[in-house]
Amino acid sequence: MSSRFLLAFSSIIVCFRLVIGCSTKPDLTSDKPNIILILADDLGNNDTGFQGSTLIKTPNLDALASNGTIFSDAHVSATVCSPSRAGILTGRYQQFFGHEANIPPHHLGTDTTQVTIADMLRANGYTTSIIGKWHLGETYSYQPNSRGFDHFWGYLGGHRSYFAENYPEGHHMAVYTNRTYTPFTGNYFTDTQADTANAFIERSGDKPFFLYLSFSAPHAPLHALEEDKALFPKSERQVYAAMVWAMDRAVGKVVQKLKELNKLDNTLIVFLSDNGGSPVNNSNNLPFKGFKGNKFEGGHRVPFFVHWGNKMNSEKKFDGLSSSLDLFPTFLAAAGIEKPADLPLNGVNLLPYLEKTKTGNPHEQLFFRKELAAAVRDANWKLIRLDDFGYALYDLSKDPYETKNLISEDSEQAHKMKSALEQWEKSTVKPWWNESKPWQKVTFDIHVDLIKNQAIRRLSPK
Ligand code: CA
Repeated sequence: MSSRFLLAFSSIIVCFRLVIGCSTKPDLTSDKPNIILILADDLGNNDTGFQGSTLIKTPNLDALASNGTIFSDAHVSATVCSPSRAGILTGRYQQFFGHEANIPPHHLGTDTTQVTIADMLRANGYTTSIIGKWHLGETYSYQPNSRGFDHFWGYLGGHRSYFAENYPEGHHMAVYTNRTYTPFTGNYFTDTQADTANAFIERSGDKPFFLYLSFSAPHAPLHALEEDKALFPKSERQVYAAMVWAMDRAVGKVVQKLKELNKLDNTLIVFLSDNGGSPVNNSNNLPFKGFKGNKFEGGHRVPFFVHWGNKMNSEKKFDGLSSSLDLFPTFLAAAGIEKPADLPLNGVNLLPYLEKTKTGNPHEQLFFRKELAAAVRDANWKLIRLDDFGYALYDLSKDPYETKNLISEDSEQAHKMKSALEQWEKSTVKPWWNESKPWQKVTFDIHVDLIKNQAIRRLSPK
C-alpha cells in the first residue's frame, strides 16, 4: 500500500470522525468564545511576575493571571518541545501514537490519524491560526495547514533566529505563510508574532477564532533587542530576561487588540510553557528540582493560567493536579462542542473546576515517559523510573524539591505507582523515532545525578 494512499485514507478517517463527532452543525453567527492558546517555549517556572520572579517583570501576563486562575500543580505531558506540543494539540498522551521524543531532522511528524483541537474547532465554525513555532513535522501532510489550521505564519522546526535571517526555502528555520516561503524581514521575531496575531484577529471579523500563539521565546538562541536588555542588570540572565520581557510585551499587544475590538471578555486565554526551563537559556525553575528534559518537577510542572473575562466566578488559584492534555476537552466544552464518543482523549474538562462545581484533583495520576526515563504523579507522590538504574520515590507534601528518595521505605506506595505506570504503558506504542544514543546517555546521567543529589556532570554530549 503506497504512503500516498495511506495518507488519503487516514485523511478520510479524520474527516469522517469529525463529521460524526459534530453534535451540531457549525453556527457561524453564534457567540462562541474565541480561544487563544499562548505557549511559551522553555520558560522557567519562576520567571514571570505571577510566578514570583523578582528579576523579570511581566506586567501583561500578570494582569491576565490576576484576573484569571493560576494553576499551581499543572503539568505538560513531556519535558521537551515536540512531544509536549503533540500532547497539547491531540489531547492524548503522545506515547500512545509513537511521538515520545523530539522529532529527528527528517521527514517524520505527528501521526496524521490523530485529530487535533484545531481540526475539531475548525469543523465547528472556528477560523484557526498558528503563529510561530510548529515542531510537529515539516513535510506536506504534517504541516499546520494539513492539521486543522486555516492559517500559519511561522517556521516548521524547533527554533530559529529572532532576527531577520534568510534561511533557504525548505530549511526548518525558514518562515512560511501557510505553505508559501516568506523570509522573515522584521526587527524582532517575538514582536512580529504579536503583529501577525493581531492581523489574524482583525481578519476573523465576527467569526469565532482559535489562535495558537506559539512563541519562540524564551528558547535559545539568546537573542534580545538592545533596548530590552538595557532594562535588566548585567548578568548571565540579562538576555533571557529581556526575551521574556519582549514576550510579555507581545502578549500585551494582543490583549490591547482584543480590548479595541471588544473581544477580551469573550475570549478564553490559556498561557503555559511547553516544558520546564532549560540550563541553556539560563532560566529558573525554583522552587522545583530539575529542568527541561528530565522527570523532576522542574521538567514538567509549568506556569499555567486561564483567563476568561467575566465568564467565570472562579478561584484565583487552583491547586488540583492538572495537565496540558486537559486543554483539548476544555476548549471543546468552552465552544459548546460535544466530544465525539470515539475520540479517546486523556484529559479532563477543567471548566467545572474553574467554576467550582467540581473540586479536588482533575487527575488521580499523571504519567510521563521519554525513552529510558518515566515518572508518575499520584496525588502528592512522585515515582521516577530510570531504566538500568532503578526507582526513586518522593513525598512532595513534605519534600517538594525531591531530595529524599523513599523508595526503600514506602514499598506499598511505590508498588502502587509502579503498577499504575506499567498499566499505563500497555497503551503506549513503540516510539516512531528516538533521540540519538549520545543524547540518551546524557539524559541518563543527568537523571542519575539528580537522583543522587550530586552535581550534574554534563548537559550535552559535547
Ligand atoms: Ca520547549
